[in-house]
Amino acid sequence: MNYKTLLFDIDDTLLDFKAAETHAISHLLEEMGIAITEERIAQYAAINQVLWEQFEKGLIQREVLLGKRFEDFFALYGKKVDGQEMDRTFRARLEEGNYLMEGSLELLESLKQTHDLYAVTNGVSKTQQRRMADSGLRPYFKKVFVSEDTGYQKPMPEYFDYVFARIASFQKEETLIIGDSLTSDITGGVLAGIDSCWFNPLKKPNPLSIQPTYEIEQLADLPALLFQA
Ligand SMILES: [Mg+2]
Repeated sequence: MNYKTLLFDIDDTLLDFKAAETHAISHLLEEMGIAITEERIAQYAAINQVLWEQFEKGLIQREVLLGKRFEDFFALYGKKVDGQEMDRTFRARLEEGNYLMEGSLELLESLKQTHDLYAVTNGVSKTQQRRMADSGLRPYFKKVFVSEDTGYQKPMPEYFDYVFARIASFQKEETLIIGDSLTSDITGGVLAGIDSCWFNPLKKPNPLSIQPTYEIEQLADLPALLFQA
């Protein structure tokens, strides 16, 4: 396999989204006068994840999801909040945190000489662009494809069609997607007909019927896989 084009997921692949999210949700809890605990942060993350999975399946609109996650979460504490406004505050705090995953800059530094790198990320365009710029990731990528700008999202084949159409001399068989999410990155890659690499640092089991082409536990394992004969 001679890959030329690498599509990188961003959150929890190159940037530590959990750390940024913890920072942002902690701020909201503090604002609401609720004590910050690991359980509460995990509770928010679980609510958020379920909603994003519904979004990936096309069951809920993004604009609804962004506010509903806070309305649902704070309802657990008997608080009625303006979800949209809370989302704006949350995203402002999210932008402050640019936490790199271990080895991500080193990986991109080594691959930029040999491969064309693109970012493929579900999320809010302004937030993702800002986080990539602040974290120092942006210069490594030829283009950044944020779902909001495309009108679709991973794992929808339409999202990948949009991306493929904007990569010069694109070839499916020369393209690999790397990401931590089975439901968006790996499923997306399989549906789009390209090879995929599941970044699985916690060695989670795969409950889905789809299989990634490769699986790695750390980012530093990727070059060996790309350069093997
Ligand atoms: Mg991810």
